[in-house]
Amino acid sequence: MTAKSMMPYVQGNSAIRAMFEEGARLAAIYGKENVYDFSLGNPNVAAPPEVNKAIMDIVEQEDSLRIHGYNQSNSGYEDVRQTVAEHLNKLHGTAFNSHNIIMTVGAASGLNVAMKTMLDPGEEVLAFAPYFVEYGNYAKNHGATLKAVPANVDGSGSDSGIPFQPDLHTMSEMIGPKTRAIIINSPNNPTGVIYSQETIRKLAEILEEKQTEFGTEIYIISDEPYRELAYDGVQVPYVTKYYNNTVVAYSWSKSLSLPGERIGYLVLPSEMADFENAVQAANIANRVLGYVNAPTLMQLVVARCVDCPANVEAYNKNRKALYEGLTDMGYECIYPQGAFYMWMKVPGGGEDKAFCAKAKEHNILLVPGSSFACPGYVRIAYCVAYETIVNSMPSFRQLMKEVKGEK
Ligand code: PLP
Repeated sequence: MTAKSMMPYVQGNSAIRAMFEEGARLAAIYGKENVYDFSLGNPNVAAPPEVNKAIMDIVEQEDSLRIHGYNQSNSGYEDVRQTVAEHLNKLHGTAFNSHNIIMTVGAASGLNVAMKTMLDPGEEVLAFAPYFVEYGNYAKNHGATLKAVPANVDGSGSDSGIPFQPDLHTMSEMIGPKTRAIIINSPNNPTGVIYSQETIRKLAEILEEKQTEFGTEIYIISDEPYRELAYDGVQVPYVTKYYNNTVVAYSWSKSLSLPGERIGYLVLPSEMADFENAVQAANIANRVLGYVNAPTLMQLVVARCVDCPANVEAYNKNRKALYEGLTDMGYECIYPQGAFYMWMKVPGGGEDKAFCAKAKEHNILLVPGSSFACPGYVRIAYCVAYETIVNSMPSFRQLMKEVKGEK
């Protein structure tokens, strides 16, 4: 019989499956071009040509045993890890080497490896709402519990007064002796907010104080699959430079549009507590969680493409068209600084799930904010074709009319 512990996931999953099925059903009836599917964070921008060229070159030029074999170290190829380390050093002025890098199966496995390395059962992880829903499941995988710091919807929880910057005052009050990690995600899914240098500084300061108060280690797990997707020159601070007990989880799923290739890395800085044991534990965690090593061909590909820029302009064009279109109609949106998500208030103060159901009647597929522990909002993933945004505008307009009772 299926494990009882899995049944809540099975029930939860049927909602996601229903959304997929609904998209396919609507496309079959109205035509794909008349369904505005903003539900998934699956990039519509093609991977850059350098990626395909690298694959071909590697297959032609390199030893087949190296391309397709197990890695000697579960952490990945030494030369690939050194290339990643040098790339980061060039960008951020850090001093990493191959020893600080562990190649992972996307950010998802990186986060699980990080949590297995740092969490004991019964410990707690904090995350700032709204947050990527899998964080709670990942914490549970390791016997830990995720506690949500309430969303800073009006900015009153942060010194800057900017909405959806993390509420550090409440976080500080929520930290206790069992708190082992804080997950941050900037640029953020689902709000598009980038955490400022001031925020990261203040966060580091509070965590240092709390470590001293409780005599424990409290780690920052910085989940960064959207690092390169930052607009208007906004800087994304490199967190290891502000706080020693930081682990970075990166992935090329979004920046190079490779989500199906499952490739990323973890950074464990030498300054973190108990570094040598942590590196060994992460290496073993990679193995015992069943990843063994990150896909070897893809490790070699990303090493060749490490300087390849993300196509930020394509998303920027979508961002502007969507924001201008929706705000003109009276929708209230957070102007995204990064990633490819628009975070929109449900008009008329309505309920998010009901609003998503109403949007679906207009062939618009959105994700309710309650899926990110923040009801009253919806997420619009604009990693879609530009035409999808342009063509969806009349439907969004009609939806607004209905909400206002003008129909
Ligand atoms: N973290 C966040 C915030 C995400 O949005 C995603 C994917 O959408 C992931 C992690 C997982 O990324 P990956 O595909 O690299 O495992």
